[in-house]
Amino acid sequence: MIANFKARFKTLCVHAGQHPDPTTGAIVTPIYQTSTYVQEALGQHKGYEYSRTQNPTREAAEANIAALEGGRAGIAFASGMAAIDAISTFLISGDHMVVTENTYGGTYRLFEQVRRRYQLDFSYVDTSYPDRIIAALTPKTKMLFIETPANPLLGLTDLVTTVEIARSHDLTVVVDNTFASPCAQRPLDYGVDLVVHSTTKYLNGHADSLGGMVVAVGNDHIEWLRFVQNAAGAILSPFDAWLLLRGTKTLALRMAQHSANGLALAKFLSAHPKVERVFYPGLPDHPQHELATRQMQGFGGMLAFDLGSLEAARTVLNGVSLFSLAESLGGVESLISHPATMTHASVPTDQRLARGITDGLIRISVGIEDAGDLEDDLRQALSS
Ligand SMILES: *Cc1c(COP(=O)(O)O)cnc(C)c1O
Repeated sequence: MIANFKARFKTLCVHAGQHPDPTTGAIVTPIYQTSTYVQEALGQHKGYEYSRTQNPTREAAEANIAALEGGRAGIAFASGMAAIDAISTFLISGDHMVVTENTYGGTYRLFEQVRRRYQLDFSYVDTSYPDRIIAALTPKTKMLFIETPANPLLGLTDLVTTVEIARSHDLTVVVDNTFASPCAQRPLDYGVDLVVHSTTKYLNGHADSLGGMVVAVGNDHIEWLRFVQNAAGAILSPFDAWLLLRGTKTLALRMAQHSANGLALAKFLSAHPKVERVFYPGLPDHPQHELATRQMQGFGGMLAFDLGSLEAARTVLNGVSLFSLAESLGGVESLISHPATMTHASVPTDQRLARGITDGLIRISVGIEDAGDLEDDLRQALSS
């Protein structure tokens, strides 16, 4: 792309980080499937020595997503968890982190079962209440790890307030932006320090690759993350980087359809007599609808609804035919899942219920199919 052309989001999706291949002019960045690079002479090379350290396909994906998030650099990892693990290396023994209570289950497992062994400490609070963040701070707190919207009840955290708290206590703020994607929410614009993604979800968007990305602004953050990426080696493969680039080209189009379908299904479910409650930030009765309107552009494709009992939930989960019963999210296909026994099965029952994850709760990742067909499928499953 022309170096100083200031492009808008949809254009960045298609072009950012990508240049015609210098050898052939190929318009699509090739999959540089190579482990090493031949050096011209001793100490003379083209900036590429070994693919754990540098790879052109990975660099293109990193630059692309850095541009979409408005950051200065992207650092790509083999999965979302590898990216979050790299972020946790900013903390050293004795440090403390405040984490959004309903954080992704894998994040909770990593922090509690791996990082605690290295004397890191974590508090999980409902970060939709700023006073609860403040109450959890200790003299050892170094980082706030925020997920907004959070899984599976789509609770939001106010980024303006969170960054204010972080600034006045000298904390690093991280936002897991997987659920919203940079199309719906750009945390760095609010002064957040690091954005992390499971690119497995909306960014790749086609349920055919795993990956993770951290986008950073500060030099110290960028340097350390690059160092860890190379030192620990949990890198994104050239093929997965290529799939990711193919995915982000259509991100804006896909997100528009995910959001439109999400809103349509949320409205349909709200009006259905068998549905007790719908959780979707785009509905006026969502407790943080006003915040969602301010902080997000479009409300995304994730929603949850409560049918009141495990039996009722089971009937719908087994009765759908267009929706696939599966974990994960963010692909073009609509998925349906049961948080209590699937994504949140490892959370102790009393804690799970205290967080509102009831036995009758169903989560949907709305795909880009025709909303009418998705409604028909839910209608017939709900009527049985
Ligand atoms: C899936 C997910 C992760 C973990 O990503 P992987 O690519 O599965 O390792 C982290 N955070 C959120 C919000 C996710 O949905």
